[in-house]
Amino acid sequence: MAQQRKITLSESEIPEKWYNIAADMPNKPLPPLNPATNEPIGPDALAPLFPMGLIQQEVSTERWIEIPDEVRDAYSIWRPTPMYRALELEKALDTPAKIYYKYEGISPAGSHKPNTAIPQAWYNKQEGVKRITTETGAGQWGSALSFATQKFGIDLEVYMVKISYEQKPYRKLMMNTWGAEVIPSPSTKTEAGRKILAGDPDSPGSLGIAISEAVERAAMNEDTKYALGSVLNHVLLHQTIIGQEAIKQLEKAGDLPDIVIAPFGGGSNFAGIAFPFLRLNLTEGKKIRAIASEPASCPKLTRGVFRYDFGDTVGMTPLLPMFTLGHNFVPDKIHAGGLRYHGAGVLVSQLLKDKLIEAKAHHQLECFEAGVLFAKTEGIIPAPEATHGIATVVAEAKRAKEEGVSKTILFNLCGHGHFDMSAYDAYFSGKLEEHELTEAEINSSLSELTTPEIPA
Ligand SMILES: *Cc1c(COP(=O)(O)O)cnc(C)c1O
Repeated sequence: MAQQRKITLSESEIPEKWYNIAADMPNKPLPPLNPATNEPIGPDALAPLFPMGLIQQEVSTERWIEIPDEVRDAYSIWRPTPMYRALELEKALDTPAKIYYKYEGISPAGSHKPNTAIPQAWYNKQEGVKRITTETGAGQWGSALSFATQKFGIDLEVYMVKISYEQKPYRKLMMNTWGAEVIPSPSTKTEAGRKILAGDPDSPGSLGIAISEAVERAAMNEDTKYALGSVLNHVLLHQTIIGQEAIKQLEKAGDLPDIVIAPFGGGSNFAGIAFPFLRLNLTEGKKIRAIASEPASCPKLTRGVFRYDFGDTVGMTPLLPMFTLGHNFVPDKIHAGGLRYHGAGVLVSQLLKDKLIEAKAHHQLECFEAGVLFAKTEGIIPAPEATHGIATVVAEAKRAKEEGVSKTILFNLCGHGHFDMSAYDAYFSGKLEEHELTEAEINSSLSELTTPEIPA
């Protein structure tokens, strides 16, 4: 055999702890606020929605948090995930850069999302929760949580963004197969949904609207809690097993990346791969660049503002300090459904504000072009979300070639695209358009915000 392509770990090398970057951040994240008073809220305010075990993680500043045995055991169904050296992609790009990727698409649901779905279901189970509500955009999170809740005997109600419900019947059927109930959102089941439908009966829905519906259902019912698949601190925390495994795998290859890249929706798969490497920057003086790749049609990191905003559309959640396009922002119907969220997680937002991470936006044609190149060279058909990270990888590999320097690049291939082939169809048949989001569109959404600003 020529060069080593695949770097694997044994089951005993599944990490034993999650890494909490809050312990090492120079500026700690600002507290969430009560929208009625603009005063900081304590952990108790979250108790109607989440089990205490997860709330403690949400506010924790401890560096390492033990992973329960039963969770590690469930992880072992598909973890550790493999890492690959993208030798064929390197060849096709004729780049001196070394490109590695971590492949999270081998999980039962096909993405990184089960890494947090499993512990979220487990902590709810410990506290006797009978039913969980959640939202899903492209269907990745809904299917991951369906898989996890059935494993621990909890009922699940999924509010699925209506446009995705219509475009992606197989994601819905996966959720049904694992026993979940799936409701197109906006729905008439909730006050929030009815309000949106009264204003726009043809609303395609959005993640923000679906969150409002799921939160309302959990807040109204004693035995029901809510679960979120990204954005929140405890979700980002659970994903850090990706980067910890990646560090071990690169050690085996005798390498350390110059650049770590991941697509960005709310920040969980980015945090998952990047935070353990940022720890090396923060505690050992390493200078690894971490780049978040977002769609040009939903550019919260590169064109949004850093201020307090709601996590949902209707305004039911606490106010969070985040990079946001405004909670009323409804992005163009891009096919990377998982990247359509209006805001970024609090931890990643603070890191971006402090210039400890970078962000890059890509148009969808550039992304699909990179995704198809990846499929042809490396074989795996990436999820449309993942193609954003690949577009950044291609750009950095080309830059390395122009500059004649060898860089080591690692990216997170966060999911496969087997249920997203209609998006590829749209690309191949020339139906995808370059949507140029104007300054006026962004300003119109931001100007509606009355939430507190954050002084520079
Ligand atoms: C959900 C999802 C994303 C975006 O969410 P993050 O929390 O930013 O990771 C990206 N890729 C895939 C495959 C997803 O399922």
